[in-house]
Amino acid sequence: MILRVPSYYKTFQCIADKCEHSCCIGWEIDIDEDSYDYYMGIEGAFGERLKEQTVTGDGEHSFVLRKNGWCPFLDQNKLCDIYSELGEEALCEVCTEYPRFVVEYGDVREKSLSVSCEEVGRIIFSDEGKMSYEDIELPDLGIEDEFYEDEEEEPFEEDMEEFCSHLEEYRTQAVAILQNREKSIDDRIREYLKFCEKLQNVVENPEEELWEPMEYFHVRMETFDELENVNEEWMEVKQRVRDFFETHSYTEALEEYKKSGDYNEIWYEHILVYFTYRYFMRAWYDGNVLAKAQFAIVGFLVIRDMDIVRYFANGKSFKLDDRIANARIFSREVEHSEETLEILEDDISFDEAFHVKHLLGQI
Ligand code: SF4
Repeated sequence: MILRVPSYYKTFQCIADKCEHSCCIGWEIDIDEDSYDYYMGIEGAFGERLKEQTVTGDGEHSFVLRKNGWCPFLDQNKLCDIYSELGEEALCEVCTEYPRFVVEYGDVREKSLSVSCEEVGRIIFSDEGKMSYEDIELPDLGIEDEFYEDEEEEPFEEDMEEFCSHLEEYRTQAVAILQNREKSIDDRIREYLKFCEKLQNVVENPEEELWEPMEYFHVRMETFDELENVNEEWMEVKQRVRDFFETHSYTEALEEYKKSGDYNEIWYEHILVYFTYRYFMRAWYDGNVLAKAQFAIVGFLVIRDMDIVRYFANGKSFKLDDRIANARIFSREVEHSEETLEILEDDISFDEAFHVKHLLGQI
């Protein structure tokens, strides 16, 4: 069995009370069954508090957030009372795992870290080097059985076996395209999309006409409007982005931002490699590599829209903290709900505006 992690994986350490955008604020915190049973068995005053601050609906348990969106166990100093009272091992699964996420296939478990956490963003975007990954051999713990137990999906169809056996190799090639710094990030993205399209064997319709940049922008916005919006910060930013492009030319604003000294291609490379690492291997289950690449490009485009607006709002400046913030806001809204990811993948696969030819016209 192989555990694969990005090279920055071990560098991460939660900054807890020093975190400005704590994951214990603004998010519903689901409690897994084992932790719930454990919490309900705790006695004394703290046990009472656990019972009072926990709610069950539709068979799912969660903490009752305070009116300001804080977890009820987050103290004034942004430290966790469950951790302080009962120790680290008492944290529920979500709190233990976040910001790590897992993709499992065959005998591989890939673990990575989400840019929805500002500290992860700081680690990723402060590094000018190319992102790399390392394999750690682990004794076989039978993860396949453990993982598929609750899953309806089969690992892959018989006839996809050949395709899946090359999937890791394809991802390595896709990442190499994104990290080829001899080319501009725009050229790399074009090559990446065409590469994934070729893998998917999609037939392009040469008759299709490209649209105006603003038309694409509106479709992107509408696609994200249809999702259940959960974060206020995301809604504010989305509105700001929409207002900005009501009064500014999309093409001119993008060109000006790109020509500025603050336009950093390495950050976009990191975002794209991050998405590719995170989603590409899901094609193991549905054979749809192209949809993963389309999602990566749409994510890049939306984050770039946010960046343009932030650049101008800052008086033509875009620094590392801005990079971390926009990646975090996007990731928090989009990447932590399987339902959102599924809706987006469907929209992106079927909406004409996201066909490869049209995506190429938006870069
Ligand atoms: S967002 Fe990241 S750094 Fe902040 S509290 Fe959560 S895990 Fe820690």
